[in-house]
Amino acid sequence: MSAATQHRPAVGGEEWWAYIACAGVPEHVFFPGPGRSARTAREICGRCPVRAQCLEEVLRLRPRTGIWAGLTQPQLQELYRRRDQRRTASRR
Ligand code: SF4
Repeated sequence: MSAATQHRPAVGGEEWWAYIACAGVPEHVFFPGPGRSARTAREICGRCPVRAQCLEEVLRLRPRTGIWAGLTQPQLQELYRRRDQRRTASRR
């Protein structure tokens, strides 16, 4: 199964999806497993024309595995945590 079918934000047919740079990339590149390099995935994301849209969707869906928008899971978890903190602070 290709990255085009597995590694994608669930956006329901929005136009930006047609421009993703990870289409056709083997799944293991974006799900490298413990101790494996994220470099290739990050390079692909680095040249993706819809990275901003991808990140927006990732922040909404919060996937807990894989590399998304050029960010590893530790980076994404930190981003989620900071956003949660800001939301909590803004409600006070
Ligand atoms: S930023 Fe990366 S994960 Fe997101 S659509 Fe582009 S290539 Fe795929």
